[in-house]
Amino acid sequence: STPENWRRVDDYLAATLLDDDQALTEAQTDSLAAGLPAIEVTPLAGKLLHLLARMTGARRVLEVGTLGGYSTIWLARGIRGDGRVVTLELEQRHADVARANLERAGVSDRVEIIVGRAADTLPRIAERGGEPFDLVFIDADKESNTIYLDWAIRLGHPGTVIVVDNVGRSGDVADPGADDPMVVGTQRALELLGSDPRVDATALQTVGAKGWDGVAIAIVV
Ligand code: SAM
Repeated sequence: STPENWRRVDDYLAATLLDDDQALTEAQTDSLAAGLPAIEVTPLAGKLLHLLARMTGARRVLEVGTLGGYSTIWLARGIRGDGRVVTLELEQRHADVARANLERAGVSDRVEIIVGRAADTLPRIAERGGEPFDLVFIDADKESNTIYLDWAIRLGHPGTVIVVDNVGRSGDVADPGADDPMVVGTQRALELLGSDPRVDATALQTVGAKGWDGVAIAIVV
C-alpha cells in the first residue's frame, strides 16, 4: 500500500463511478490558474457530499470553506429544487473565483457566498433567522472546528447531518502530544463530537489521491 496505489485506485473508482463533468473540471483548473491552493475535496468525496445531500433530502446546506466552489457545486447539485447552499469564505479572491465557477456550473442562483471570518459570519446567519440547515460541511481553518461545530448544531435541527473533513491528518490526530494547531483543533472537534449530547458521530480514515486522512459524520439528535 503506497500513495501511488491510493491514487491509482481513486482514479479507477472515479473513472468507474463518476460521469465526466466539464463544469466541475473547469472549476478545478480555473481555481488552480487563479492561484488558489489545490486543496478541494477529491471528485469521489465531492460525490459523497452530493449523495448525502440527496439521501437526506436536504433543502438548506451550510458550507464553511468555499475556496473555488468545487465542493459547493457538488452540494448545490444535490439539493432539492427550491433549496439553497450558504457557503462561508474568508478570502474575497477565493469567493470571486467561486462565483465564476458556480455561474458556469449553472448553480449560482441557489448559492449564497458570504465573505468574512466564519466565526463572525455564523452569528450573523443566526441573527437573521431563517430555516435551519439540513446538512453542514465543515472544511475551513481546522483550528476553529469546535466553533463551527457548535454553530452547525445550533443552526441545525434534529436530523441535521454534519460532515467534518480532514480529521485523519496523516495519523497525527492520534498523537496526544500534538502541538500543530490544525491537529489540536481537529482533536477538540472529535472530542466535542464524542461527548456533546446534542450530536452522535463516527469517523472513518481515508486514503486516496490526497493521501491519508479521514472524515467525521455526525447527526444532530
Ligand atoms: N470546501 C472546498 C472544496 O472542497 O472545494 C475547499 C475549502 S479549503 C480546504 C478551505 C477554505 O477555507 C479556504 O478557501 C480558506 O480561505 C477558507 N478559510 C480559512 N479560514 C477561514 C475562516 N476563518 N473563515 C472562513 N473561511 C476560511
